[in-house]
Amino acid sequence: MIARSPLNAEPLNWSDELSRAYTSPVELLRDLGLDPASAGFAPPAARLFHFRVPRPFVNRMQRCNPRDPLLLQVLPREGELVNVPGFGSDPVADDLAVRVPGLLQKYHGRALLILTGGCAVHCRYCFRREYPYQGAVGSDKLTAAIEVIAHDTSLAEVILSGGDPLTLRDAALAQLINRLAAIPHVRRLRVHTRLPVVLPSRVTSPLVAALTGTRLPAVMVVHVNHPHEIDRDVRAACLALRDAGVALLNQTVLLRGINDCAETLIALSEKMFEARILPYYLHQLDRVTGASHFEVDDVSARNLYTEMRRRLPGYLVPRFVREIAGAESKTPFL
Ligand SMILES: *Cc1c(COP(=O)(O)O)cnc(C)c1O
Ligand code: SF4
Repeated sequence: MIARSPLNAEPLNWSDELSRAYTSPVELLRDLGLDPASAGFAPPAARLFHFRVPRPFVNRMQRCNPRDPLLLQVLPREGELVNVPGFGSDPVADDLAVRVPGLLQKYHGRALLILTGGCAVHCRYCFRREYPYQGAVGSDKLTAAIEVIAHDTSLAEVILSGGDPLTLRDAALAQLINRLAAIPHVRRLRVHTRLPVVLPSRVTSPLVAALTGTRLPAVMVVHVNHPHEIDRDVRAACLALRDAGVALLNQTVLLRGINDCAETLIALSEKMFEARILPYYLHQLDRVTGASHFEVDDVSARNLYTEMRRRLPGYLVPRFVREIAGAESKTPFL
């Protein structure tokens, strides 16, 4: 692999890199030296939720390993076709949280902007895999959403979400962040994104400038599930963000066959800290249709979390939570 820094004077153009993402599971499996049928690929599952994986993420997969923990996060498998009672299209009741199209609020003091349905990677367990993204805020509805934020003085924090908000252009993000910073009662900016992990070239100088160019302190919550997801490029991107003053947190989804092992989660916390990311949440899976094969039973989940607490300093232990529709916050699981 060619060594590169995402903050070089001439960075890799991230949108070109994104457009070269794999969109065919067969092609990805072939490049990994795997046979589609014996690797567990189920073509009908790919029709339920499109396949998409950027190449930098693929570069961290092991060749010839059908159980690779990164591959299993993105590969459409038979399990997605099974209908299991208790699993539905909106497991966390996002529909009840809509204040105006594209603006969700569930909890006191913070509201979440669904800026786009676009993501760089399609994670098969995504709780928004069934989300009706025609309800995303886009540019047309943005003014209405910002009006609501401006008129509600209880909103101290705005969360940019999606999809992945960093699929938007730097100029659009900078403009939005400036509009939010002009609202006196907004005190914090938060970004929920997977892009610095799956496509580290996305962390450009203009992006860092947009995130840190206003009076709002910024926190970025990334999404990493396995230590193999963090490589030198991810670390460099995270260090650039941190050095510019962006606080970095991580959320992880507990996933059967991928990270449901104390050793793996402990290694993940340690490796994240080397990239200056602190653990925030470990989520028990949201029960979205098509994701039942990722669910870890509660007893195993509690055991492995207990082991994490026993082995890690407190600041490297994420809060283990489950989202219960209608609750006033994420609910501690243990
Ligand atoms: C999860 C979530 C948040 C963030 O909750 P925190 O506990 O503040 O991290 C905010 N808004 C919505 C709608 C959410 O689903
Ligand atoms: S990056 Fe996030 S929003 Fe996008 S598919 Fe993955 S989990 Fe879902």
